[in-house]
Amino acid sequence: MSSIRFKALQEAISRQPINVELPSNKVSDFFGVNVFSHDVMSKYLSDGVLKTLKAAIDNNVAIDRATADEVAIAMKSWALENGVTHYTHWFQPLTGATAEKHDVFLDVSPEGKAMEKFGGGQLVQQEPDASSFPSGGIRSTFEARGYTGWDPSSPAFIFGKTLCIPTIYISYTGEALDYKTPLLKALNALNKAAIPVCNYFDPNVKKVIATLGWEQEYFLVDEALFNVRPDLVHAGRALFGANPAKGQQLEDHYFGSIPERVNEYMRDFETESYKLGIPLKTRHNEVAPNQYEVAPIFEEVNIAVDHNQLLMDLMDKIARRHHLRALFYEKPFAGVNGSGKHNNWSMATDTGVNLLSPGKTPDSNLQFLTFFVNTIKAVHDYSDILRASIASAGNEHRLGANEAPPAIISVFIGQQLTKVLDNFEKKVKVEKSAGKKSIKLDIGHIPELTLDNTDRNRTSPFAFTGNKFEFRAVGSSANCAQSMLVLNTIVAEQLTQFKATVDALVKKGTSVEDAIIQTLRVYITESANIRFEGNNYSKEWVKEAERRGLPNVQTTPEALEAFVTEKAINLFEKQGIFNKREQEARHEIQAEIYTKKIQIESRIMADMALTQIIPTALKYQNMLITNVKGIKEIFTPSHTFAGGTENTHDGGRYEDIADSQLSMIKEISDRVSIIRNKTEQMIEERKKANKIEEATAKAFAYCENVKPCFDEIRYHADKLELVIDDTIWPFPKYRELLFIK
Ligand code: ADP
Ligand code: MG
Repeated sequence: MSSIRFKALQEAISRQPINVELPSNKVSDFFGVNVFSHDVMSKYLSDGVLKTLKAAIDNNVAIDRATADEVAIAMKSWALENGVTHYTHWFQPLTGATAEKHDVFLDVSPEGKAMEKFGGGQLVQQEPDASSFPSGGIRSTFEARGYTGWDPSSPAFIFGKTLCIPTIYISYTGEALDYKTPLLKALNALNKAAIPVCNYFDPNVKKVIATLGWEQEYFLVDEALFNVRPDLVHAGRALFGANPAKGQQLEDHYFGSIPERVNEYMRDFETESYKLGIPLKTRHNEVAPNQYEVAPIFEEVNIAVDHNQLLMDLMDKIARRHHLRALFYEKPFAGVNGSGKHNNWSMATDTGVNLLSPGKTPDSNLQFLTFFVNTIKAVHDYSDILRASIASAGNEHRLGANEAPPAIISVFIGQQLTKVLDNFEKKVKVEKSAGKKSIKLDIGHIPELTLDNTDRNRTSPFAFTGNKFEFRAVGSSANCAQSMLVLNTIVAEQLTQFKATVDALVKKGTSVEDAIIQTLRVYITESANIRFEGNNYSKEWVKEAERRGLPNVQTTPEALEAFVTEKAINLFEKQGIFNKREQEARHEIQAEIYTKKIQIESRIMADMALTQIIPTALKYQNMLITNVKGIKEIFTPSHTFAGGTENTHDGGRYEDIADSQLSMIKEISDRVSIIRNKTEQMIEERKKANKIEEATAKAFAYCENVKPCFDEIRYHADKLELVIDDTIWPFPKYRELLFIK
């Protein structure tokens, strides 16, 4: 056996679970101990400062320098007491990962006296030397300055021995260079748009937040096996590998019992997450072998996004302790299911109402219907931008692959709510009782809705699930901020329009209730096309969607175009999320990221094909040639032995006897030459694409000319894997990668 692969397998097989000791048997004993939470602050800050800080956070206003100074001193004291030496601004550049640059608290005076220093200045703003973060032409290289700025709405935390301060990241000229900045703006826009709509029903509502509960899927692979697969190491996915005899066909992995090693790993990262205040709730096996899921209790979107980013980082680090690697790539293994990150989303008021929860009274039903129908309308009007928000090189393998939502955006609401909307659209009964006006709608059995679990559609990209919408098309490696900023922006815009329409009707003398009902009715009709209750994986849906005129966008570069249409630019400008320049720059960055991902995959593919697979194939072919030569020697009648006697074998012509070896020799040559030719063609296409300057055109070239070569190269390499002597195959096979004992 290939000695490297053999050693890795030995190592992986002999691994034992690493037992994890919990700090306490009660999670509540250590939940949030590493967070600069409200409770902690109240120990270090005066009531006055605490109040100012809270008010600033609640009302989205800037924090004055004096308050920042006090908070900084408190943070420093708390951090030093907890053994922390460094601090960092923690931010989310468009690379997809989080970024940090650590500074020690230490300061030395001109007299040489050392002391711990950290003030409001350092808390509020930093200037990371970050000229190499993606900026899409906003920042030319000579103007490399970018600033991070404190986000007080997401609490600081201790990670390792470092105090991490969540921050936004903007350019010298004020453009957003990260995910958090536009997300905060979008959440603010939603708040602004939703409050007056809530006030139709309840004048006491002063704040509306969006809520997010993500479900993170991931794969685990043993570290030793991972390390000898260059594709996993550098691209995060297996670029080669024939399907194993046993994959997911027995459906025995989903919700199956969790292997001990994996269980200890989960306990380990859960424990660290609890300390960081990440409220993880569920863990289970997923459909594919070695695939798992973790989900928290939902939180306000900004916090939920930070927690998801932090968790991915944590899971990666802690996996290493257990000699595992966590893969967040959307489709690490062809032939088995890929990973997503369902984004469960809703809106809630400061009066404690979930706006997407169908209430029990008619009044709250109308409020529910208002937010419900407006969300559907927003998805209908901006489905292209929503599709763009989940576009990435990794997710491209997943969407429409009969395991994940298709690339066609549609909304599932279930039978009962379909009936409700149908009735509402056609024959709403509005009864006005004497005196106090109240509305009675003929809307079926909404209160029972939450009890009905049979009404589920796992194939829909955007499904209503009782009291929230679940955006299922988000990829597992994505920063949720991208889909969340788009969703919250389009709903904000929709609610703004709704309010304008209702107010105009009221101005003409219509009652508020009637105006709301009339407007919703129109929306239900206008957005009917986006609603689909059937099987999203079926071919019929693709045809039906086409008939309805719904976009079916297959590739990432094409999907990303939706970000720079006039419609998108107007939308984001109007809602105050991005200006045109930012929008174009971000589009460029995403196209570049796509190009780079495909470029890296292509390079690794060529490398593995030319330096591992082909040489192994030729080695095996040589073994066959030696074998055939031997047969020829034995079975050639004319052969004369050294002793001079005639060969007495009469088994027939050697070609017949060595028939299968000869055809294998031929097959290997054929496949090797196809792999080689296709690889050369791919390299040529890459060279051509690399000459293209413009980012979008380059991404299209990678998508249309480079990427299609992958399939044929892989097809023939995987066929070779199935015939070549197992003992010389150079890297771990699926059957070895995908089963942890
Ligand atoms: P599923 O059956 O899809 O697993 P769950 O009820 O377990 O659904 O919830 C999945 C996720 O949805 C969890 O993270 C949960 O916290 C979240 N969730 C529940 N209610 C809301 C809400 N109102 N807003 C946002 N997320 C929510
Ligand atoms: Mg779900």
